[in-house]
Amino acid sequence: MTSWIEISEERLAANYRAIAKAVGSETAVLGVIKANAYGHGVERCAVALARAGAPWLGVTTASEGAQVRQALRDAGFSPDGLQSLLPQGQNPLGKQPQILVMCGFLPEDVEMIAKHKLTPVVWTPEQVGWLHGTGLAVHVEIDTGMSRQGVRPGAELDDLLVWLSNAGLTLDGVFTHFCAAEVAHSGLTQTQERRFEAAIAQVSEQALAPLWIHAGSSSTVDNPAQASPWLVDLAKSVGARAMVRCGCALYGYCVPIEGADAASVPSKLSSSLRPVMTWKTRVLSLRDLAVGDSVGYNATFTATAPMRLAMLPVGYSDGLRRELSGSNQRPGGWVMLRTRNAAGQLVEHRAAIVGRVSMNLTMVDVTGIADAQFGDEAILLGDGITADDHARLAKTIPYEILCGVRAG
Ligand SMILES: *Cc1c(COP(=O)(O)O)cnc(C)c1O
Repeated sequence: MTSWIEISEERLAANYRAIAKAVGSETAVLGVIKANAYGHGVERCAVALARAGAPWLGVTTASEGAQVRQALRDAGFSPDGLQSLLPQGQNPLGKQPQILVMCGFLPEDVEMIAKHKLTPVVWTPEQVGWLHGTGLAVHVEIDTGMSRQGVRPGAELDDLLVWLSNAGLTLDGVFTHFCAAEVAHSGLTQTQERRFEAAIAQVSEQALAPLWIHAGSSSTVDNPAQASPWLVDLAKSVGARAMVRCGCALYGYCVPIEGADAASVPSKLSSSLRPVMTWKTRVLSLRDLAVGDSVGYNATFTATAPMRLAMLPVGYSDGLRRELSGSNQRPGGWVMLRTRNAAGQLVEHRAAIVGRVSMNLTMVDVTGIADAQFGDEAILLGDGITADDHARLAKTIPYEILCGVRAG
């Protein structure tokens, strides 16, 4: 094994509690564990979040949902006792969270959805047709501006609601997704809120009474300009429970708040979150360089003084982004090298990446770290070198960094 990830279930639970506290007791928190829990491992995260009291989990596909349902059973949760309207943070062991299949399904998935008591997100007449006669409870997504999934408010929604009733399906939840949740005082979010309100009004005109109204993600919770009582009031107006869906913040990350007045909008969450994933590798060998020795492809780094380098057996094929390469002109990323001192204590040192990150190998500068030796652990991602740091260097978002880690 050239690299591995360590997951702190304690931190995952603590992040969940921090989010729950930030939204207040009138809003439930759905734990988003899609895409293998953003690279953290969907089964263990599902179990940890269920223990932390998550009433709902959100997965990508029906098969991911089935895997989660089985993992929860294996962890001792009862197969039947789906928890629903318990007070926030009180999901006693024995009750399974409900599982929302967030990213669509095909006819061949219906059997699996029914068998594992998953809740599909529905927005097309075809989907309603495939579910006809199953008696399932569903959530309807409203497209208020993403143009990805979801039914549009107005005639399209009215038709869908009629089809749902005719197909014998229960409307358990109605939700939407914001495109610019991280933008302070976003006009776009306000427009989406008005469209969502119109959709909820249509639902109640048809005398349907969903139990759950949900909108918003990690950024909605983090961005105080957005975290208004709006959702709670809207849910209450139709006798439903409000919920936000959080992924990234659970794993310890929030994207910065953006927009013209971002500076005056302090992040509500980020200081209370800690990274759940630590990605580690080990030093395989060491080498001394003389002045003028170059390192790696295209010799983008040349030693200007005697140096000592350590070789790490990871590279871009493992998800260590090539943009973390360090040249003489431009420093790149770094790792946290953990050595043992003479007294046997672990000491962490920042070691800069030098030269190009290759497919399976990366060199780091350990000049002056006298105790460095082969077998030492190096933290590639975690405390001291975060997914935010990687994302900044790779000009992307922490989400893509986390999902891209391929340990093993
Ligand atoms: C991924 C996703 C979320 C979670 O977003 P985060 O920014 O990770 O909190 C919420 N809702 C929907 C519909 C999503 O696809």
